[in-house]
Amino acid sequence: MPLDKVIFNWAQAAGFTHVGRLERSALRFLPEVREMCASDRCRSYGRNWTCPPACGSLEEITARAAHFGRGILLQSTGTLEDDFDLDSMLEAERLHKERFLRLLDRLDASGEPVLPMAAGGCTLCERCTYPGAPCRFPRRAAPSMEAYGLWVSRVCEDSGLPYHYGPRTITYTSCILYDTDDKRG
Ligand code: SF4
Repeated sequence: MPLDKVIFNWAQAAGFTHVGRLERSALRFLPEVREMCASDRCRSYGRNWTCPPACGSLEEITARAAHFGRGILLQSTGTLEDDFDLDSMLEAERLHKERFLRLLDRLDASGEPVLPMAAGGCTLCERCTYPGAPCRFPRRAAPSMEAYGLWVSRVCEDSGLPYHYGPRTITYTSCILYDTDDKRG
């Protein structure tokens, strides 16, 4: 089966609510997005191996992306009771991260080279080991799309996938780049 189809099937099996092709031309690595990390609004800057500055400079991490020619967008949408329904927001985030790891683990086991970009910084450990010790799970920890300088809503729109799914919903978006070489024939 072609690799594209395998990854799409696995993504759907992982439970994402929306899955779509990521247009390679939609990947614009913007310094201004990356600079927002430094404002530390999410309290992860300089505290996590997957976030700046530990994840590498914009030039360094976008050079990694140059090796991959295709990508898939992965979304989880949750329904909110009202605009302040924090419990449902957190539950949607938890489900999204769980699905993302399920797919990543499956791809890792398959040996396919991939480049994952998460929604937000890594929260696998209660407290990140940065900077005193190496990452505990380097094969599962992934920098966010924002750490790559990606404007997530634009990437979705430029790829033909919505970013919002209407009032009283919240959507988390990640992506995975993969190799253009189809080794499955
Ligand atoms: S897996 Fe743990 S140590 Fe590694 S980046 Fe995530 S939180 Fe930090």
